[in-house]
Amino acid sequence: MIIVMNPEATKEQLNMVIDKLTKVGLKVHLSEGSTRTIIGVIGDKRFVAELPIEAMDGVEKMVSVTVDYKLVSREFKQEDTIVDVAGVLIGGNHLAVMAGPCAVESREQLFQSAEIVKKCGAQFLRGGAYKPRTSPYAFQGLEVKGLEMLAEARAKTGLRIVTEVVDVESVPVVSAYADMLQIGSRNMQNFQLLKTVGKTNKPVLLKRGLSATINEWLNAAEYIMSEGNYNVVLCERGIRTYEEYTRNTLDLSAVAAVKNISHLPIIVDPSHGTGRWKLVSPMARAGIAAGADGLMIEVHPNPAEALSDGKQSLTPENFAITMQEVSNIGKIMGKVFI
Ligand code: PEP
Ligand code: MN
Repeated sequence: MIIVMNPEATKEQLNMVIDKLTKVGLKVHLSEGSTRTIIGVIGDKRFVAELPIEAMDGVEKMVSVTVDYKLVSREFKQEDTIVDVAGVLIGGNHLAVMAGPCAVESREQLFQSAEIVKKCGAQFLRGGAYKPRTSPYAFQGLEVKGLEMLAEARAKTGLRIVTEVVDVESVPVVSAYADMLQIGSRNMQNFQLLKTVGKTNKPVLLKRGLSATINEWLNAAEYIMSEGNYNVVLCERGIRTYEEYTRNTLDLSAVAAVKNISHLPIIVDPSHGTGRWKLVSPMARAGIAAGADGLMIEVHPNPAEALSDGKQSLTPENFAITMQEVSNIGKIMGKVFI
């Protein structure tokens, strides 16, 4: 349920409505837009229905939200959300690029990657210190050592750090080093993890689950926001289909759909979305043309030697070309690197 206050509603009238709701145990979330305030109500719908909210001063209407998420929806907040990650903005007319290796492998590999990423104009360095690998025998990541290297790379370059957190236990340590917490596909419905990152004040990059519907994905974002953390950026990274030529099927229609039904920023990951480096640049361009607010791209100083995802990683040369192409499409779409 959402309650729309009328544009002339006073602060006192708003507080009276909030009081009425919280007294019966309902939780409220405010969206203060440029013209009006909207109250998102969380809790048993029956309690809200029984309250005479629409008769209260300052209330324009009460709307039953047709979808099962609220805070994520455009009904709750009409303006696009812009997420601030340690001073770098994602959303609106900002074009954000997160690039770097799949996994942090060594200081040398990470620092070389960071230099390339910085030189080409991306604002974020990505790299997994904790890797959720399909095989338990595959490289699992350098863990805290990897986080320390990421923080060193930030100090050297000024790049913001986005890195994956794979379980509830490691949320504090990853939060201590990262500027943005990544929730990977395999954890998109790890509800305890979503609630835990929702209690932090770190921006969250929420990747779409391997086989998640858009509705399930937006509900995952709702889990984070319902705990009070509104700084969520979505990432389309392809879904599992019958197609085998590509690693996943990059669902660019999801970008357009999410823009319609949610106010949250969304970026595209053409690396995991295709699994093939040759397809990364065309799909990066297509993602921005579809309305995405940015990209996540795997780059490695020497993809042939990568410990994970070398097949989909761009060389420094190809990343430079891709960034130029993406920047051109961005300008057409009214989005620029800032
Ligand atoms: C990653 O970005 O490192 C990753 C593992 O991606 P995904 O969760 O989309 O598979
Ligand atoms: Mn990867």
